[in-house]
Amino acid sequence: MLSKYVHDTLGIVTLSQSRRVVRVSISVRPSGEVRVSYPTSISTRRALEFLESKRDWIERTKERLAQHATPTHTPEQIEQLRAIAKRTLPTKVAQLASKFGFRYGRVTIRATRSKWGCCTSQNNLSLSLFLVTLPEELQDFVILHELCHTVHHNHSAAFHALLDRCVGGKEQELRRQLRTYHPV
Ligand SMILES: [Zn+2]
Repeated sequence: MLSKYVHDTLGIVTLSQSRRVVRVSISVRPSGEVRVSYPTSISTRRALEFLESKRDWIERTKERLAQHATPTHTPEQIEQLRAIAKRTLPTKVAQLASKFGFRYGRVTIRATRSKWGCCTSQNNLSLSLFLVTLPEELQDFVILHELCHTVHHNHSAAFHALLDRCVGGKEQELRRQLRTYHPV
């Protein structure tokens, strides 16, 4: 059973009473939403007492999450990013392709959040417009990754070897850096 409770400092708290859980637990979602799960054998009042006893921890966790939350873009900002992406990314692709001798079809720019780019079996590239929010070196890395797929349509050892050569032996390092970003 789900219900909402408005806490004076923590805001809206979701109370989730269920037969399936055995003890009271508290979670804070990346959005900052606080949820208390507790078994049917425990009263809501006791669950709220538990919430109160964990208040310091919850507040600290909410603060930490707020600091790390990635800013989301407004529709206007997305249109601005799209304009920048359309102006800069196809040129970058062309330059990198000619530098390393890749051949590709079309480049499309999409508001993709799930990934930075992809390469179709016809060697058409699709790039996320959020790519332009990354440092130049990582933009190039993503584009080279997709261009290498025009040669190897997989993530085989040969694919990684090719990509590693294109980025001067920095594939591992760049991949690690890229993981700290998310298209938002
Ligand atoms: Zn890939």
